[in-house]
Amino acid sequence: MKKLKIDQLDLKNKKALMRVDFNVPQSKQGEITDDTRIKVSIPSILYALDQGAALILLAHSGRPDGKPNKEFSLGPCAQRLSELIKRPVMLAPDCIGPDVQILAKNLKAGEVLLLENLRFHAGEEHPEKDPSFVKELASLGDVYINDAFGSAHRAHASTAELAKLFPGKAAAGFLMDQEINFLGNTLINPRRPFYAIIGGSKISSKIGVIKALANKADGLLIGGGMAYTFFKAQGIPIGNSIHEDKFLNEAKAVIEHCNKNKIILILPTDNVVVKTMEKGEKPLIAERGIPEGFQGVDIGPKTIEAFKITLSNAGTVFWNGPLGVFEDERFAAGTKAVATILANINATTIVGGGDSIAALNSSGLSDRMTHLSTGGGASLEFIEFGTLPGIEALSNDT
Ligand code: ADP
Ligand code: MG
Repeated sequence: MKKLKIDQLDLKNKKALMRVDFNVPQSKQGEITDDTRIKVSIPSILYALDQGAALILLAHSGRPDGKPNKEFSLGPCAQRLSELIKRPVMLAPDCIGPDVQILAKNLKAGEVLLLENLRFHAGEEHPEKDPSFVKELASLGDVYINDAFGSAHRAHASTAELAKLFPGKAAAGFLMDQEINFLGNTLINPRRPFYAIIGGSKISSKIGVIKALANKADGLLIGGGMAYTFFKAQGIPIGNSIHEDKFLNEAKAVIEHCNKNKIILILPTDNVVVKTMEKGEKPLIAERGIPEGFQGVDIGPKTIEAFKITLSNAGTVFWNGPLGVFEDERFAAGTKAVATILANINATTIVGGGDSIAALNSSGLSDRMTHLSTGGGASLEFIEFGTLPGIEALSNDT
C-alpha cells in the first residue's frame, strides 16, 4: 500500500488542514495526565510549519455527542502544544462558522490554529446526517494531512470524508506513515518465522485479530485471561478463571485451524494461580489446568521458557495484550519476561495495545522494540482488515 506522504506535498504558503489525535487522558480538573499523543504529532506539525504552511489543526476530545460542551474543550491541548513547540497556538472558538472562516483566512505561514473539538457537531461522527459539515471544514484549507492513526478506523467527517475532498492532496503524516509501514507493509510481508503473542483479558475483543493473525503467522502464542476460554474449549479445567462461554466455538475453530495448517499454537502449560486476589495470599504454580477454587492470573515459568525457545529464531513478532494481571506486581512476571525476550531477540518487534505499551513502559524496555503502535482499536482493526477507512481515503502515491 503506497499512500501520499506529507513530504510529497507542496506546503509553501498553503493553508494545511492536519487531523491530529489529541484525545488525551485528562483529570477531572481538566489537566492532561499523559501528553504522549500530542508529543507524537510534533514531527508532522513542525515539518509543515518549516515548509511554510499556515497550519490548521483538527482534533476531537471525548464524547460531547454533537453538542458544544466546555468540559470537552481542546483548550488544554492548545496550551500544552504551545509549550512543547515553543510557539503560540491559537484556539478557534469552534471548528466551523464565520468566525473560524475569518481566523483561517488571516492565518499566515508559520502560524498554528487549533480548531475547537470536532465532536461539538453531530456531522463529525455522522457525516451522512450533515454533509455540509465536511464541506465547511474543507473550505478552510488547500491541502489535507492525516496524522491521527488512532482515529483512522472511524469513517468520520474529519478523517475519511475530508480526505476525499482533496484528491491528489490528501497525505499521511509521519506517524500515520509509520503505522502504515509497520502494521501494513511489514506484517503483510513479514520476515519469517512470524509469531504473534496475544494476551489480555477477553477473547471477545480480539477474536477478529486472532483469526487474521492465524492466517498470516507461523505461530500463535496465547496467554492472559483469554487463554482460559481456549482451555475450556479443550475440556481443560479452569477453576474460577476469567472466560467467555459464548466464544468456546470460536476458540475451538482457531485451535483446529492451527492444527490443520501446521501453525504453531502455544497455550500456557503452567499458570500462576490464586484463590483470591487479596494482598496476603501467596500465589502458587499449577501445571496443566487450573485447580478447583483457584483462578489463573499469569503464565508460569515453563510457559515462559516455551515462549522463549519458540521466539528465539523469530524474524518478526507482533505482541498485543499482557500475559497476566500485570497491574499487580505479583502477577507481572509473564508480561515482563515477554518484554525482556522481545528486547533481546534479533527480530522486527511490533507492540500494540494501551495496556501492553503501559507494561512495556514500566519495564523500561519500550526503546528496545522496533515499533510501538499507538492506535489501540485502530491498530487491531488495521491488522484484521488490512486497511482502515481513514487510510483508504488518502491519495495514492502514484
Ligand atoms: P491491551 O490494552 O494491551 O490491548 P487488553 O486491554 O486486552 O490489553 O488486556 C489488558 C487487561 O487484561 C489487563 O487489565 C490485565 O489485568 C488483564 N488480564 C490479563 N491476564 C488476565 C487474567 N489471567 N485474568 C484476568 N485478567 C487478565
Ligand atoms: Mg486495554
